[in-house]
Order: sequence, then C-alpha cells, then structure tokens
Amino acid sequence: MNKMYLGVDLGGTEIKIAIVDQTGSIIEETGIANNGASVPKTVIAEIIRRSRAMRNFSQVVGTGVGVAGDIDQKKGIVRFSPNLGNWKKVPLRKMLAGHLPGDIVVDNDANVAALGAVWLDAQGKARNLICVTLGTGVGGGIVCQGKLYRGSSGTAGEIGHMSFDHDGPKCNCGSSGCIERYIGAPYLSRFAKGLVEVEGSKIISKLVNNNLDAITPAILSQAALMGDPLAKRIWVDAGEKLGVVLASVINFYNPDMVVLAGGVSKAGKLLLDPVKRMVKIRAFSTSSRECKIVISRYTQKLGVVGAALLAK
Ligand SMILES: [Zn+2]
Repeated sequence: MNKMYLGVDLGGTEIKIAIVDQTGSIIEETGIANNGASVPKTVIAEIIRRSRAMRNFSQVVGTGVGVAGDIDQKKGIVRFSPNLGNWKKVPLRKMLAGHLPGDIVVDNDANVAALGAVWLDAQGKARNLICVTLGTGVGGGIVCQGKLYRGSSGTAGEIGHMSFDHDGPKCNCGSSGCIERYIGAPYLSRFAKGLVEVEGSKIISKLVNNNLDAITPAILSQAALMGDPLAKRIWVDAGEKLGVVLASVINFYNPDMVVLAGGVSKAGKLLLDPVKRMVKIRAFSTSSRECKIVISRYTQKLGVVGAALLAK
C-alpha cells in the first residue's frame, strides 16, 4: 500500500486540507473558508469532519498541521496566533487525537513551508534548505540534513527579524532595523506611498485611482512591469536589502537552496535579480556558487504539502 499523509494548513482566511503521498504529490484536496475570529472548537470539528469525508482517508497513516503562529511543537499547542484572534493556548494535538490518523504533529507555517519546498521546489534533492516566507510578516524555515531544524525552544528561522541596520526603524519584535520592517508587505507599501508622494508616479497613481493607501506589492509589480521607473527602483532596493541579509545567511549556513515564497515573492524577477546580484557580490563564492536561489513555484501548496510531510 502506498502510504499517505494528511496535511492541514491552518491560516487566518483559509484552511487547506490535503492527502499527500510520500513524495509530496497531492492525491486529494479540499478547503474551508476561515474567519480569523472563529472559535477554535468549531474550526477543529469542521477540520475533522471534512478530513474524514475525503475519499482516500482510510489510507492515511499520519497527520500534520501547520499554523501561522507561535507553536509549542513538543506539546502540540498553539500558544498564540496573530491571525487567529481566539487561538490562545489551544491544545490542538490533543483535540485532534483519536479523530485523525496517527500521531498528530503541529508546527508553524514557515517550518512546514520549508519542508514543502524540499519536496516541491527541490524535488526531494536539497538536504540543507532555507525557505523565506515573504508576506505581511517575513518568516523563515530551516531544513538541516533533510530534517527541520527548530532550535532549543522551537523558534529558529526568524529571518524576518535579522537586523539590517542597528539604527533602523523600530520593529514589533522590540528590535530595530529588522528586514521585515523593509520588505514585509505593509512596510513596503507604506515606503512606496511616501516616495510617490514626494516624487510622483503617474502609473502607480493611476493603478490605485489616486488612493495611495491602496498601494500593495502587487500594484508595485504591475507598475514596474509597465515601465514605471520608481516602482522598478523600489523593487531593486527591496531585493538588494533582502540580498544583503541572505548573503549573511548563506555565509552562515551554507545551504544548497534558498526558496522565496509568499505573496511578496510574486514580484518574481523584479525581486529575485537584485537578491541574486547582492548575494553574488557579498557572500563567499564557495558558498554562493553551491546555493540555488529560487522563487517557489508552489507558494499556495507549500504549507499543506509540508504539513502532511511533517507526519512522514
Ligand atoms: Zn523584528
């Protein structure tokens, strides 16, 4: 029998559920709309009901769940999640045990995305991989010798809070100059708004109907592809900053692969080219030569596939 695993990607607006084989191929999938304010007990009951209704459920031998938030992996508890308001100290593993197959493994979304990237983007070939999730926040997951590296208290991989400038803007984490403060979606948008106010951009202004609060990374990508010089410059600047941080990460960790995922990574080459240029200039050539830097082609699936593979 081909062993199968159940993966649940629990996000603030959507819950994805999939049954995945040993190589990360999705056999069957389903989704539930989620409201960040929903009650954990109700959401968990719905996850159980929908999972058990899947055609291949009887073949599932293990279950993994990825949650955007602070997770106690050892106990399977969601300590806190910024996107799931009511989820505080929720004993998720305990609540799912007996209802879903195997030992239930719970981890945070960036960690499971890293595991997903090993099987989807690297086709199972990368042993040492870093996955950077670029969204509202900037997260990171570390795979070391084929396994997730979680650190002593389970918080390893917080690439978003590597400081880029000791004198930089204050970050929510208490530090200052963290890379998240420059390329997290809301900060990038706000930075762009400030520049458009000073320098002007016909293309960006038109795309947002002169409402500069409506600038998003997607708008900036669109404007850059339409030839807007300011939007292009913003991406070069964002990519170079991320590249400087990644050059340090690559020197420090010497990975086979760095995978960029999440909404902001949809900028594609606009972001990737300056990242690669900076890494080439700044990282040791012996480490940067061996390291492939890519934008994930599977951003939407990394979480749910990685969650399933947690159970493997
Ligand atoms: Zn920070």
